[in-house]
Amino acid sequence: MVRGARHGLQNAALRTEANAQEAARLRRPVTAHRLDGKACAAQVEEDLLGRVAQLNNDGIQPHLAVIIVGDDPASHVYVNSKVKTCERLGIRSTHVALPADTDEEVLRAHVLAMNQQGDLDGILIQSPLPPHMDEEALTDLIHPSKDVDGFHPQNLGRLVQGRTDGLLPCTPSGVLRMLAWADLDLTGERAVSLGRSRIVGMPAVLLLAAKGADATVTVAHSRTEDIETLCAEADVLIAAVGRPEMVKASWVKPGAVVVDVGINRVEDASRERGWRLAGDVAPEVEQVAGWLSPVPGGVGPMTIAMLMENTVRAAELRRDLQGE
Ligand code: NAP
Repeated sequence: MVRGARHGLQNAALRTEANAQEAARLRRPVTAHRLDGKACAAQVEEDLLGRVAQLNNDGIQPHLAVIIVGDDPASHVYVNSKVKTCERLGIRSTHVALPADTDEEVLRAHVLAMNQQGDLDGILIQSPLPPHMDEEALTDLIHPSKDVDGFHPQNLGRLVQGRTDGLLPCTPSGVLRMLAWADLDLTGERAVSLGRSRIVGMPAVLLLAAKGADATVTVAHSRTEDIETLCAEADVLIAAVGRPEMVKASWVKPGAVVVDVGINRVEDASRERGWRLAGDVAPEVEQVAGWLSPVPGGVGPMTIAMLMENTVRAAELRRDLQGE
């Protein structure tokens, strides 16, 4: 497999071998290196603080609007966490909370007004929306320059064209950023995306295959046959299926890089709250993989960091346009 480079995945495999020897010496199990999304997100935030200060010097405060409809507790937790991160970075935030039975027209009116608002850089509609609303149509309504989620067809279309300098979908771009942060070189590596959703799987495929990342990518989904064998051939496995702990140790090539995007609530009577968070990857994969992202603390913090970066980038573009 795999060539060395920066760290390179071959080096990852070698490190796994060295780990194994060290673990045998210390009589403890071998475990994967941690793809620490929290630490990487902290580094992204550090960089953003400087960019926000520069924007402030130029008379601009980045400004993000988050719209949430209904009372799904998990969604409210995500929104609060986004608002708190804005506060930490000096990004102004506007939080619009609408009741679950809001007419879609009301939400459309909010988006159209925000598109016109000159001091607003980003608009985010928290998913999921109530079933009576057309989530895709509402996303399409957001002006592409304020589409900080990166889901607008114009922004996704740029990605299809290989242009990765625009507003990129936050979760998959967070995955790629985390791999770069760990200094892993994907050039020529065999990557498998387990999942082909519009918001995670498919853009992850495009980013992995884009020039600069240069992986060779296969997409797996619910109709894929012999998925276990396919995954076991991957040097890089991105698990984004929404099925708790579906990826078992036997699905993973020893030394592979495994990114667990999944966030699933599973019942757990041993916890006071009655549930725990589980990824799409089973915990024992840690004994096989060379690198593994934890849940929580992996892709989750990166998604928020990339949202902040998109907002700052949109504000920089606003400043540049004002200067013209
Ligand atoms: P999604 O829209 O439901 O897509 C799931 C994908 O997995 C689909 O492509 C589906 O295939 C495929 N799939 C489902 N069951 C499968 C099976 N048994 N075998 C093979 N493929 C299967 O989900 P998503 O929005 O991409 O999210 C995926 C996971 O990531 C969820 O757990 C979600 O909560 C999590 N997530 C986390 C973050 C974060 O910030 N960490 C952000 C977004 C999402 P088909 O296309 O054939 O249906």
